[in-house]
Amino acid sequence: MTRVMHPMQHAIRQPAWTNEMGVSLGPIKQIVLQPTPFCNLACRYCYLPDKDNRGHMKPEIAALSLYRVFESKRSDHDLELRWHAGEPLVVPADFYRKANRLIREITPSNVSLRQTLQTNAVLLDDAWCDVFEELGIEVGVSIDGPAFLHDAYRHTRNGRPTHAAVMAACERLHARGIPFTVIAVLTEASLDHAQAIHRFFADLGPTEVGLNLEESDGAHTSVVLGGTDVIQRYADFLAEFRSLCCDGSVKIREFESMRDAILSGGEERRSITATPAGLLCVDWRGRVSGFSPELQGLRHPLYDDFIFGHVETQTLDEMFESHTFRNLTRDISAGVTACRQSCSYFGLCGGGSPSNKLGEHGSFIGTSTVHCTAHIKLVADMALIEIEKELCATST
Ligand code: SF4
Repeated sequence: MTRVMHPMQHAIRQPAWTNEMGVSLGPIKQIVLQPTPFCNLACRYCYLPDKDNRGHMKPEIAALSLYRVFESKRSDHDLELRWHAGEPLVVPADFYRKANRLIREITPSNVSLRQTLQTNAVLLDDAWCDVFEELGIEVGVSIDGPAFLHDAYRHTRNGRPTHAAVMAACERLHARGIPFTVIAVLTEASLDHAQAIHRFFADLGPTEVGLNLEESDGAHTSVVLGGTDVIQRYADFLAEFRSLCCDGSVKIREFESMRDAILSGGEERRSITATPAGLLCVDWRGRVSGFSPELQGLRHPLYDDFIFGHVETQTLDEMFESHTFRNLTRDISAGVTACRQSCSYFGLCGGGSPSNKLGEHGSFIGTSTVHCTAHIKLVADMALIEIEKELCATST
């Protein structure tokens, strides 16, 4: 499974509400539904703890999950429904058709519901393209660059390479005129190949590429992070990759969102994954967690199984009173406060990714991580230099 969330994506601008702990909650910007925890691949860096489980979500559970959000009246007017946290194309297409019929019936007229799906694309065929077109689902493909990098990590369960199948899927999407984004995981080997990776994505033609440095997250401990010089190597990679992209050949997700943040006039951002009730996750059985999809399926002495409640038996307001939600809210908010007090990048970040803090520090009450250094601080520094140069060029 490729980690999809970037802490600066979906920065929250709508008003929040406050609970009796004095912590502001929501608004709910994104709901992540897990059609299945199962994945047909066995990537070497995968963080999914339950990827052998073949359970499937029922369409009624999907609709009930959305009902709970709408019932709470705490969703943003622009709500993202993300099908994720397992390989979503393992589930029959009819699941999505029926779930969409039910969801359409209950979606308030003032809510704009955007559907997205991140896939390894090995099963993506014309029938799936029909589903994406019919239901308006935006597609993200996980591909790590040229075959020699991708196939070193992304295998089938039998250990076979998957690059050729993913390339065929991308060609099919192009042939059908369906735009797609890409998420690429950068492993240690990738950092020496900025040119090859740039050439590959310039030829592939996605609308945007998200770069995820392989990181400690949820149940996965990064191999990359074991290297002492990883940040310098990543900085060198990013500088070379970015300079190659300056002709517009590849849009890099991290730079696009950072430039928006810098150019938005100094408004302080909140990270959706660090915002209590900003992002909700519902597993295939209907159990609700939040903050980061990477926490789903984990266990922890303070937070049990990270589950707040079940959509069949509880409202969201009842779930937000649960012991687990309150403990998570307290500790994640303390981590955000520590970031606010110590980090000069806070206004562009909002307090980072709780799952990375837990993965790297063993606690949410921490600040800087390799993840935020790579994806926030380095990118902010480079984007600021770019913008300064552009401003100088226009003023001369
Ligand atoms: S320390 Fe990292 S996570 Fe915290 S605000 Fe700064 S950049 Fe963000």
